[in-house]
Amino acid sequence: MDRDKILLTPGPLTTTLRTKLAMLRDWGSWDADFNAVTARVRASLLEIIHGHESHVVVPLQGSGTFSVEAAVATLVPRDGHVLVMDNGAYCKRAARLTTLMGRRCTVLDFDEATQVDPLVLDQRLRSDPSITHVIMIHCETGAGVLNPLQGVADVCAAHGKGLIVDAMSSFGALEIDARKTRFDALIAASGKCLEGVPGMGFVFIRKAVIDGCAGQSQSLAMDLHDQYVYMEKTTQWRFTPPTHVVVALHEAIEQFEREGGQSARLARYTSNYQTLIAGMAKLGFKPFLDPAIQAPIIVTFHAPADSSYNFKTFYSAARSRGFILYPGKLTKIETFRVGCIGAIGPDEIEQAVHAMALALQDMGITSAAPA
Ligand SMILES: *Cc1c(COP(=O)(O)O)cnc(C)c1O
Repeated sequence: MDRDKILLTPGPLTTTLRTKLAMLRDWGSWDADFNAVTARVRASLLEIIHGHESHVVVPLQGSGTFSVEAAVATLVPRDGHVLVMDNGAYCKRAARLTTLMGRRCTVLDFDEATQVDPLVLDQRLRSDPSITHVIMIHCETGAGVLNPLQGVADVCAAHGKGLIVDAMSSFGALEIDARKTRFDALIAASGKCLEGVPGMGFVFIRKAVIDGCAGQSQSLAMDLHDQYVYMEKTTQWRFTPPTHVVVALHEAIEQFEREGGQSARLARYTSNYQTLIAGMAKLGFKPFLDPAIQAPIIVTFHAPADSSYNFKTFYSAARSRGFILYPGKLTKIETFRVGCIGAIGPDEIEQAVHAMALALQDMGITSAAPA
């Protein structure tokens, strides 16, 4: 079978044929046609967060993490002090890269089955005035928790602290409105909910802080201020752009807009999520999170208690039927994850649930109930 497998993963994810076809052309990085595509992509991205008044957007080559690292190095002064609100694996990654960038970093711990808490943040900012910036992850893709962006942004604004938001797996699907929510930087990437292919990130930076970022990054390639100034002056990327990724993203954004934008994308992902939860419940699978804090982006399920279960066999059995699952990322208990995002709808999710039912049958498991 030469059909692509359905990716139930949080990026790369399943893309449409149109998006794939957009990559069948060669583009010159200095050419006006390509630079016009870059400009249109940037304008559309700002439109999605209603950020034309308040923010600029700076694209960067590489995977999403490159842009998180670049944002920290560009926005946080070398003698700055970053507080990372930590309820999962991507928070830990943000803390680690902050430390590696040579910035002082303090971690504010939360359980990975809970949201981060703006009240606890408020207390910490009161007790430690040396903190200059706060990092939060909007949707913690590790377990799938939706964190309270507005609450955290309000606390940061009240204390006059810079807020850096990793919105990688939420941007485009969950509402983010720069007119209502104050942040200094917000980071996302091409290969997540906009349903482009992976290869570039982009960082929204508040206009009021961008000029002050000059010279703060210790990196040449990851300096977003430099990338911004150069792009504004020349319309070009500073170094070789991921041309095919940019044109694929342009095509993906056109489809996003035609579908009805963020609210339509959220509606489709929500119906994917509901179809998944209902189908999995019939097989005995139990989600890890309280539905009240679950984002409709990626769902963590407990591993079945049956002693015949192991993830590798389950994964291959689902894979042979055309569906790619995702391993769990929790430290203490065994889980696996199923993504609800990508160019798929409830039909594909139903088929995926069916594939998992057959995978359990292969393994001789009659109920997927956890311990
Ligand atoms: C996908 C993702 C990233 C970026 O991961 P890469 O592997 O670098 O693309 C960062 N943060 C979150 C929350 C994500 O979901």
